[in-house]
Parts: sequence; C-alpha cells; structure tokens
Amino acid sequence: MNGALFLLTVNFLIAQLFCVFFLVISRRSRIPAAGRWFAAAFATASLSAIFEIVIRYADFDRLASFGAFSSVLVGLVMIRVGLGRLYAVPSSVLAMTALLGASLPLNLMIYDLPRGTFYHSFGYQMPFAIAELICAVAVYRSGRRETADRVLIGLLLLAAGNFASKVYFAVKFSGGSTAQSYLSSVYALVSQSLSAVLVVATGLTLLAVIVVEIMDDAKANSEIDPLSGLFNRRGFNERVNQILSRPMSAYPHCVILCDLDHFKSVNDTYGHAAGDQVIMSLGRMLREHAPPEAICARFGGEEFAIFLPSTGETTGYLFAQGLRNSFSALAFAGLPDTARLTASFGVCALAAAGDPILDAINGADAALYDAKKSGRNRVNRTRNATTISLEEWQAQA
Ligand code: GH3
Ligand code: MG
Ligand code: MG
Repeated sequence: MNGALFLLTVNFLIAQLFCVFFLVISRRSRIPAAGRWFAAAFATASLSAIFEIVIRYADFDRLASFGAFSSVLVGLVMIRVGLGRLYAVPSSVLAMTALLGASLPLNLMIYDLPRGTFYHSFGYQMPFAIAELICAVAVYRSGRRETADRVLIGLLLLAAGNFASKVYFAVKFSGGSTAQSYLSSVYALVSQSLSAVLVVATGLTLLAVIVVEIMDDAKANSEIDPLSGLFNRRGFNERVNQILSRPMSAYPHCVILCDLDHFKSVNDTYGHAAGDQVIMSLGRMLREHAPPEAICARFGGEEFAIFLPSTGETTGYLFAQGLRNSFSALAFAGLPDTARLTASFGVCALAAAGDPILDAINGADAALYDAKKSGRNRVNRTRNATTISLEEWQAQA
C-alpha cells in the first residue's frame, strides 16, 4: 500500500468515525437535524476515498472519478445545510442547485483534459473552494462570534484557500497525467495529507460548536423553572450576583417577594392542574410586565421573587402594587370565568451596595409575612412597614 492509498484509507475511517460522533451527539442537541446533516455529509464525502481506490484498481475511471468528485461536493453542500440549521442561516436552494448543476457536468467535461493543466485543475478544485467559502459565509452571517465559531470560519476559509491553491500546485507539481497515476504522485500525498488535517480540524470544530450549544442549553435548563418559565433560585442567585458585582448604581436594588393567597384552597377546589395554570399565568404576567433588566424567579411552590436592579424602594413598591392589581384582575384557564385570585407582596431595598442579597430577601420575606397577617392582597415594605390599600395607591399614582 503506497502513501496516498494509506492516507485515503485513513481519511475514510476518520470520516466514518465523525459520522458516528455526529449521530451520537446530535441526539442530545436542541437542533438534532444539524448533527444529522453533518453525519450524512461525512458519510457521503468518505465515499470519495473508495472511488479513488476503485480508480486505481478498476477500469471504469470516468465514472469513479466523477463519483469521487461529486461525493465530496455533495458532502460539502450537506455541511452547508447542517450549518444552516445550527446557525439559523437557511441555505439558498437556488445557490446550492446552481453550484451542483454547474459543477457536476463540468467535472464530466474536464475529464478528458490532460491532468496537471490549468483548466482541468480549475474545473476540479474551484467548486470545492466555492462550497467551502459558502459555508464560511453562512457562519459569518449568523453573527455568532464565540471562539468555536471564529475557529470554524477560519478553518472553512483555510479549506477554501487550500482548494483554490491546488489549482496552482496541481499545475506546478503535476498531479499525474491520468487518474490512476494521480494516486502515485507526491502531489497526491501532500494534497491528501493537507486535506486530512483540514477535515479532522473542521470536524472537531463542528463537534465543539454542537457540544458548546448542548452545554449552554443544559446550564440554561438547570436555571429555569419549567412550569413558570422563570428562573429558579439557582438562576436567580447567579444573575443577581452578576449585577451585584458591578459598580454601585445610583439607586438601591430592590427585591419583591410574592406569595399567592389561599393557594391551597385553589388546588383543593379546582384541582392541582388548575393550580399549575395559575402558576403558569403568573409566570407569563411577570415576564410580560417586568422591565427587561428585572430578574424574575419562582423560588418554589407558589412563591415568586423579582429583583429590580437600580430601582429604589418606592419604585419597587409601586411596581409591586401594579402587579398585585393586574393579578387580581386575571382570569385563569381551568378556573371558572368569574374566579379571581390575589397575592401578597413584600418589598425591601438593599440597604448598602456591599450587603448580601440574602439581607434584602429576608427583609422582603418579613414584609410579606406582615402583608399576610394584615389581611393578604397587600404590598408591604420593610423599612417603614407601610401598608397601603389599592385606593391609597391609586391616589398616589
Ligand atoms: P397563604 O395565603 O397563607 O399563602 O395560604 P396558601 O394556601 O397559599 O399557603 P400554603 O403554604 O398553606 O399552601 C401552599 C400550597 O401551594 C400548598 C401546595 O399544594 C401548593 N403548591 C406548591 N407548589 C405547587 C405546584 O407546583 N403546583 C400546584 N398546583 N400547587 C402547588
Ligand atoms: Mg400562599
Ligand atoms: Mg407559600
């Protein structure tokens, strides 16, 4: 077995391995189709190694040569489709059809041209270069610039450059005058080695992009409460601590705690599923009403927390009154149309920039306890322990 043949075999096996990796990993991905397209791309492109070997030992060169060319090109088009799924940059069917429609007949036409000539090399290599370039442009257009994305763009451009440079090098170092002698040439050895390195690097980077996406998703899921769609306590703490680590803001940060009133009787009267609908509705209401910089969380059960950065206690208090008012007017799926519920709120501002968030949470909890004790459907604040009715609040607003 000579060098080029050996490398072809290695390329083939590596591509098969990538195919398996992509299939396995795509099952965990939020976008499984992307990994499946990459698996199909590697499986298809790996056929080129078999065609190259066939060329060496069999007589039907033209067909095998066409097979070797088209399997790589179709593989690259599949990579582009997979990238489209992964990066949400849909591929243009027209552009892909035009590339295949022009390149495949061109390949059949250039077969009779002597190898090692400019026209033959150009016709053979440029479709690959263009396909790699299209892939690089797709990742670039997605606007994503994580390390793995940048590396991927770099590798795809490098691969495009590699194919384009082959036009020149194939002429300079004559790649063998027939398809068979190609495999014995030094040029084939260098070309195959370079391609193997680029294929492995691109495959690994694509895997890395999918793995990063899976890890980001897993982290996000571990910080989200599935029922309300809000952060859970872990996600809340993580986000709040990020804000607390920033320089002191003009207004103190404010924490609001909210607990549904007599929620147990909602479950007892209308069933647990109806109770879940109430929690979902409150989650939706908080997502819609809270300012974009607010951090809303479900702390567990029917208890919710809202962190309002740089808001001040009075604004936080008025916001809580607004929530209380909106919630008391809300109708819920699974409950009679006329059924209305209420919630109680405790508000506390962080006294000093360096204070732990737990101080404000405890303060808000104490205020919430007072709100429950003094009749529910109220907003209480810790500092001056003022209890304010809806009418009083409306008169203030
Ligand atoms: P209070 O006004 O004093 O807050 O009374 P309450 O009934 O709301 O408070 P209590 O703590 O006695 O009951 C809370 C209820 O919340 C008990 C529990 O069954 C219900 N609960 C907790 N988590 C869930 C949930 O995920 N779904 C549903 N449907 N109910 C839940
Ligand atoms: Mg309650
Ligand atoms: Mg409770």
